[in-house]
Amino acid sequence: MGIYDDIGVRTIINAKGASTRVSGGLLAPEVTAAMAEAATHCVDMADLQAGASKIIAGVTGAEAGIVTSGAAAGLLLGTAACVAGLDPGRMSRLPDTTGMKNEVIMVRSQRNFYDHAVRAAGVKIIEVGLPDRFAGAGVRDAEGWEIADAITDRTAAVMYVANGNARPSLEDVVKAAHGRNVPVLVDAAAQLPPVSNLKRFIAAGADLVSFSGGKAIGGPQGSGILCGRRDLVMSAVLQMLDLDIDWSMWVPPANLIDKDRLPGLPQHGIGRPCKVGKETIVGLLVALRRFVAHDPEAVRKVNLARVEKMAAELGRMRNGTVSVRDGGSPKLVVMLNPDAGKNGLAVCLALQEGTPSIYLDSSQAANGVISVNPTCMADGDAVPLARRLREVIG
Ligand SMILES: *Cc1c(COP(=O)(O)O)cnc(C)c1O
Repeated sequence: MGIYDDIGVRTIINAKGASTRVSGGLLAPEVTAAMAEAATHCVDMADLQAGASKIIAGVTGAEAGIVTSGAAAGLLLGTAACVAGLDPGRMSRLPDTTGMKNEVIMVRSQRNFYDHAVRAAGVKIIEVGLPDRFAGAGVRDAEGWEIADAITDRTAAVMYVANGNARPSLEDVVKAAHGRNVPVLVDAAAQLPPVSNLKRFIAAGADLVSFSGGKAIGGPQGSGILCGRRDLVMSAVLQMLDLDIDWSMWVPPANLIDKDRLPGLPQHGIGRPCKVGKETIVGLLVALRRFVAHDPEAVRKVNLARVEKMAAELGRMRNGTVSVRDGGSPKLVVMLNPDAGKNGLAVCLALQEGTPSIYLDSSQAANGVISVNPTCMADGDAVPLARRLREVIG
């Protein structure tokens, strides 16, 4: 029947959201049609990235931008750009950073496992601040002056992980870093929606911003955007593109790459394994156009209707309390009754292993709270999902 049957892989109901482990979300037909069309022609990849740069610059307010194979790839490329600049010798030597600026400053409370992508460029992360607010033992996190204090002549960049709880503010970080001529790289992978965040970090002075394309933008699962200062984006794209070409034959697109600023052509760079195909670039650009034009209220209504349909199907439950949460993004929440003797993680596992296989947001399941995120569900998923929830929870 379907392609997944051919391969012998079961499909799942994704009620977790657009996360990588569950294959991102569902692509709009307009996006898949554009990808299919892209696959029927060949282009020069540098020209395609240059076309993407104009579109990304338009929506983000950045000087330039490229399509990456994901936000994590953008962190590697962005770090490599901050370290190597426009020096092809340095580009070719990475991740050996001997003799280069090879430290990246991060606020200690922002450290996370995606910073592996930053370290992969060959830099050492220097942690700043003692976030005692998280221990309930104080009120502080890192402050701008502590970042300024940690900057030395080895500092290649300050890495900032954008989040509603992040401290200090990006503005304070930019002030501290720019005061010492150090660029700021922002991980904004999951900061969409709102659409306004496409512009926000650049407007606050970030030098490079990395977004995920496979999350809220609705692009291909393996896509992302890196945008920012033109010289840094140029460095990033030079370290990703296939540059197996004679210097005399190399005619790069002028809006993205200034050939006359380079003494020679770098070899395949550290970003070469982050290769992104033409279908992915086109799919991301079409998804981005849809994302910028979409009406958040209409999307909220579709998701709310799904959640209400599930709530109606569930009705009252013996072992759980069902509620509809309607913030900016509606979701269905089932709180397991403490006397039901059910373990939230075991409930999620049973749903995952059953038929149909259902993946939920289990981040609070250990506390007996199970969330159904409707954003990546298909229209026909609501009723079978609610029935299985009832069977498993009771
Ligand atoms: C999802 C995420 C990433 C990785 O994004 P990909 O597009 O999957 O590479 C990086 N950082 C944060 C904070 C994220 O949430």
